[in-house]
Amino acid sequence: MTGQNPVFIPGPTNIPDRLRAAMNVQTTDHRAPDVAGLVQPLLRDLKKVLKTETGEVLLYPASGTGGWEASITNTLSPGDKVLIARYGMFSHRWIDLCQKHNLDVEVIECPWGQGAPAQEFGKRLTADTGHDIKAVLVTHNETATGVLSDIGAVRKAMDAAGHPAMLYVDGVSSIASMDFRMDEWGVDLAITGSQKGFMLATGLAIIGISQKALAATKTATSPRCYFDFNDMLGANRTGGFPYTPPLPLIHGLRESVDMLLEEGLENVFARHRRIAEGVRRAVDAWGLKLCAESAGLYSDTVSAIYVPPGYDSGALVAHAYDTYRVSFGIGLGEVAGKVFRIGHLGSLTEVMALSGIATVEMAMKDLGYPITLGSGVAAAQDFYRGAHSIGNSHAA
Ligand SMILES: *Cc1c(COP(=O)(O)O)cnc(C)c1O
Repeated sequence: MTGQNPVFIPGPTNIPDRLRAAMNVQTTDHRAPDVAGLVQPLLRDLKKVLKTETGEVLLYPASGTGGWEASITNTLSPGDKVLIARYGMFSHRWIDLCQKHNLDVEVIECPWGQGAPAQEFGKRLTADTGHDIKAVLVTHNETATGVLSDIGAVRKAMDAAGHPAMLYVDGVSSIASMDFRMDEWGVDLAITGSQKGFMLATGLAIIGISQKALAATKTATSPRCYFDFNDMLGANRTGGFPYTPPLPLIHGLRESVDMLLEEGLENVFARHRRIAEGVRRAVDAWGLKLCAESAGLYSDTVSAIYVPPGYDSGALVAHAYDTYRVSFGIGLGEVAGKVFRIGHLGSLTEVMALSGIATVEMAMKDLGYPITLGSGVAAAQDFYRGAHSIGNSHAA
């Protein structure tokens, strides 16, 4: 196969040629003095993407999961209490990681399809008069269900409760694709990775760290070595790393941040919104339902779509790949077999999105789904035409 079809999984995402070229570099000495000229401006520009002026940004050779582990081990001690809600596979896996690090994890169970329960967080924090809860952990965009949570509302609830807990946000499938405001939302740890909104290969964890979180490293006793924030900060100050950095990925990230800032972050977000809305119109035209329970929760980076009763979403995803060589996301955990996911983030245009919509439509028709061929494509086409005729600029 040619490998020319875009992927519609919610990460890793399609890599633009410009970024593939940027990563294609010969080995250079990572201790050479000019590495500082690459790393320091990059860390500064990443702060623009995270919208922080007061925090620090660090890079680790890891995937997003490494970012979770770094955040937990640098700022918390075994036995510390954290508050987190479970509403999908990614929040579930973060809970699991916290438990394996011997934290005392207070879990709020939510139906999959809902988002972070800001009010309930507020109640639990208000009840915690001894301030045992050290951190509230929130998955910004639950990639398993296509639900975007309101981090500003969580911050408001925390402030209203007058609670000093820190706020950790998993922004792996939101940052660089949907609005993220680290300083404004009072986020203490913001975690993302290179392979979603940044359009790169997997391999870098990107972490935004507030001054409050940095101060917490002084008393946190969880064992850490590879991910130690202070070792990394110290090395970064002279432009280096405590160990061999993946320079090709760092060159790629430099180019990625340039692309994002050239397009303009707000334009990047608007493009994601436009593409996502076309996908949602298609879902509606098929007569199918999103896993996200209400419009206010819709993610602009991934849509999780229920298949009709009696159908297996895993078989649909397998058929689309076997027959048309196009990848969609399967259902995970509680919604395995029940939803398929269309990832629509990163390097994507409306035209590319139409090819994904058309493909899954063919696959559904092949498997006897009660849909009308062309209905989803037409609904998306209608929306994309209208979105352009009202003057939205073409991007990506
Ligand atoms: C992709 C993803 C992760 C991290 O997964 P890795 O495979 O370790 O990069 C974490 N959280 C969310 C919400 C994600 O979408």
